[in-house]
Amino acid sequence: MSRSSANQRLYRYTTPLTVAGLAALAILLATGPRPLIDPGDPVFWVFAGFVVFGEMRPIKVAGHAGELAISTTFILALLLMYGITTAVAVQALASLIADLVARKPLRRGLFNVSQYTLSWIPAGLVISLAVGKPFPGTVYSAPQIPGILLAAVVFFILNSVLARTAVALSQSLPVLPHVRKDVLFRGWTTGMLAGLAPAVTTVSRIDLALVPLIVLPMAAIHRAAREAARNEHLAQHDGLTGLVNRALFLDRMSQAIVVARRKGESVAVMIMDLDRFKEINDTLGHHHGDTLLREVGPRLQAVLRESDTVARLGGDEFAVLLPSVSSHPEATVAVAEKLLTVLQEPFVLDGVTLDVGASLGISRYPDDAGDVETLMQHADIAMYRAKGSGGGHELYVADHDHYTVGRLAMATELRHAIAADELTLHYQPKVDLSRGAVVGVEALVRWQHPTRGIVSPAEFIPLAEHTGLIRPLTTYVLRESLRQVRAWDALGLEIRVAVNLSARSLMDRLLPEEVADLLAGEGVDAARLELEITESVIMADPARAMTVLHRLNAMGVRLAIDDFGTGYSSLAYLKRLRAHAIKIDRSFVMHMTADPSDAVIVRSIIDLARNLGLNSIAEGVEDEQTLQALRAMGCDQVQGYHLSRPQPVGDLTPWLLGHAWDAVPAVA
Ligand code: C2E
Ligand code: MG
Ligand code: MG
Repeated sequence: MSRSSANQRLYRYTTPLTVAGLAALAILLATGPRPLIDPGDPVFWVFAGFVVFGEMRPIKVAGHAGELAISTTFILALLLMYGITTAVAVQALASLIADLVARKPLRRGLFNVSQYTLSWIPAGLVISLAVGKPFPGTVYSAPQIPGILLAAVVFFILNSVLARTAVALSQSLPVLPHVRKDVLFRGWTTGMLAGLAPAVTTVSRIDLALVPLIVLPMAAIHRAAREAARNEHLAQHDGLTGLVNRALFLDRMSQAIVVARRKGESVAVMIMDLDRFKEINDTLGHHHGDTLLREVGPRLQAVLRESDTVARLGGDEFAVLLPSVSSHPEATVAVAEKLLTVLQEPFVLDGVTLDVGASLGISRYPDDAGDVETLMQHADIAMYRAKGSGGGHELYVADHDHYTVGRLAMATELRHAIAADELTLHYQPKVDLSRGAVVGVEALVRWQHPTRGIVSPAEFIPLAEHTGLIRPLTTYVLRESLRQVRAWDALGLEIRVAVNLSARSLMDRLLPEEVADLLAGEGVDAARLELEITESVIMADPARAMTVLHRLNAMGVRLAIDDFGTGYSSLAYLKRLRAHAIKIDRSFVMHMTADPSDAVIVRSIIDLARNLGLNSIAEGVEDEQTLQALRAMGCDQVQGYHLSRPQPVGDLTPWLLGHAWDAVPAVA
């Protein structure tokens, strides 16, 4: 459905209603009961004044698009004292004046006049049937109150249904739930306001000056309603940006789906994540971060329709709901492009120009899913895909589902695993060839999955890196392996432990402090810890990596370049890194005895390390022949299945106790 068809439906409803209402008004004025006003009666003018005031100062009920007006009390009072013609005429005039002052279109003003007329006339009928003919001098007493309240109920229900249907149609909301919600929300307040009408008329007969006393409780009702509206607004909106929050967003989504299902239309949901928000927040501070978040909403709203919803889901994540879109995905993609374009324009905060941008994922009802939860999940998956491919927008595609849903589920499981201690460490010894002794172990993390058995780090480390879990994971590995070093110390095994660091950890400026805290906490000397870093990781952002590495270095922690030969390290960096060791990648070591070019590479790396004053460590040593070849080339340390597989502590400790000082005979 398009905007014009929503409008068409609205007009198909409002046009005949307006015509009918205006006709009823004309007939009433021409032929209805004679107005009973005496122009000199100050009571009439005071009441009419309150009606106009009430229409002009309605309580906006945010989130409901509903309004409450104290004019109800006085229209009902006018009806009781001067008859239906007077009451309807005053209501029509006051509503028209208020709408024109508020610059609402005339069309809307006339519709409001009509719906009031069509609601008050039946209420007037109820009064004359149940209470009797209105009469200016009437003092109402208890037996008449039920009839008056019944008239108020008739007015309120008709008014709610007629007016709220128009609002629901204009916003593409399902009509019935919308009207029901409105009746529930305004029912009590309107009832209280209506209940005051007989009191107002009676008091005005005694002394007009007492009427303001009755307005006081009305002010209290007014205030309470405003407060209730405010509280409800707070519960459904984001405190920082004022945008709709997740709860209300999901609520609107389910309403949109109800309407779309009935009409055979489409709904689109978009989730977007700002691309450089964390960086901005970290470098410029929260104040700027908050300002930026506040500016996003208005930008998005500027290119959307009034019936669309922009929500902040949390952090730097926003969502957009298009309750009625064309079933062709291109239409939604066009909107997504508009949204991304407005976000690409630089934000200027306190004179600082920031380029932000976003990644956006789209899912659509009914093509991609039939319920709120799945639609949100699919939009999320699409958003992650967009992020993974460097930003922009991405439509949800079912083909990727398996892979991504699986990954999302696994990320959740991994989070639990870290908390529930399902991760363990295996250790693989490193043997010094010249001394023939175990000088260290490499800690290799394992995930003991409750149903899938042991999951390889190759599977979950990349996942951890992309979901922010790498930090708790690294912390766990560091703490656990330092504890183990101390435990081995107690057994007289003085060995070093090597821990692998991933790219994300290395870019974390807080890492050196954390390492220092952990070393101090476990009481382990910095020189007993070696950190293995892959060269590609360093090359991704050498300057930043260098800062972190230099601080670690200054603390006395040893550094080894892992998987050397597979990346593209510049030799210049190698020197500036102040690493202690180079680990030759196992892909060269494993085939060096069969493949002469691998042997050349291994020999060159060993020579390079020696010339730079670094240790060389060969990993993936699977047989004796390789070990001897490495020894002949002058390699410092070896690691591999031939010596020992990575093992749990329970197996490795006895092995270490037996082999610690004589694993490999020293060169004669
Ligand atoms: P890596 O640091 O290069 O670790 C050496 C890998 O080679 C280990 O695989 C080890 O089991 C395997 N290996 C050792 N000797 C031999 C051998 O003789 N032959 C063969 N074919 N393989 C051998 P693993 O444990 O599956 O770990 C894979 C990678 O996962 C590691 O490569 C490392 O990059 C990463 N990793 C493991 N634990 C951690 C961790 O705690 N943190 C981080 N960030 N990464 C980790
Ligand atoms: Mg390693
Ligand atoms: Mg390696």
